[in-house]
Amino acid sequence: MKGIISSLIHLIYPNKCPICGEILEKDSILCKSCLSELKKLSPPFCPICSVPFPDGESHICEVCLRRRPYFESISSAYIYEGTASKAIHLFKFQRKKSVGRAIGMLLSEFASKWWEGISKKNIEYVVVPVPLGKRRLRERGFNQSLTIARYVSKGLNLAIDYLSLRRIKETEQQSVLGTEERKRNVRNAFEVFGDALKGKGIILVDDVATTGSTLNECAKALRRAGVEEIRCLVFSRTSYF
Ligand SMILES: [Zn+2]
Ligand SMILES: [Zn+2]
Repeated sequence: MKGIISSLIHLIYPNKCPICGEILEKDSILCKSCLSELKKLSPPFCPICSVPFPDGESHICEVCLRRRPYFESISSAYIYEGTASKAIHLFKFQRKKSVGRAIGMLLSEFASKWWEGISKKNIEYVVVPVPLGKRRLRERGFNQSLTIARYVSKGLNLAIDYLSLRRIKETEQQSVLGTEERKRNVRNAFEVFGDALKGKGIILVDDVATTGSTLNECAKALRRAGVEEIRCLVFSRTSYF
């Protein structure tokens, strides 16, 4: 009965694709055409920062070899191109809530499979979103990483902590800067307050990773606070540094 009613509701009020407005098939998150332009991040890539390679085998990239990041790994669901980059723009800069929901659901789907496949330590794991500074939060009105992290927390059935890790320095938008500038921009920008995260494993969630310097600075602060393990999880990753 419930199934019939929901089918009827779908017939009368069909859901629309949050990206392009096309009518959706029942129970799908995006339309076929947007899905076809959503590129999964697939091997070969660096097992630490997940930068993709054009060919060959997966191996630790030069950047990670030269300087090991503070986190154990970055895992990304998609490549920051096509639908993934469109989705992030619509959500972050045009504040389309329905797109945030779609990103959250897609990442949560990816996260569930990923979580099953990794070897876990005998510690408590907590989901932590990359925090925004107060000024940026006021301007945007919401933290996109927190929105997405809520879906991951629900999907993995793990607690979320969005208060311990804070951004203590207002930074420039990373997307307008080069690699070295990005590093400088976020240097010492984060701090952990209290000891709620001590000894725990953290799943650090963000919408997009480029050079990984924001995630690395967060991880540095988390390590200082006695965090045992840091796994970064992002919706999308650029295919370059
Ligand atoms: Zn679409
Ligand atoms: Zn790497």
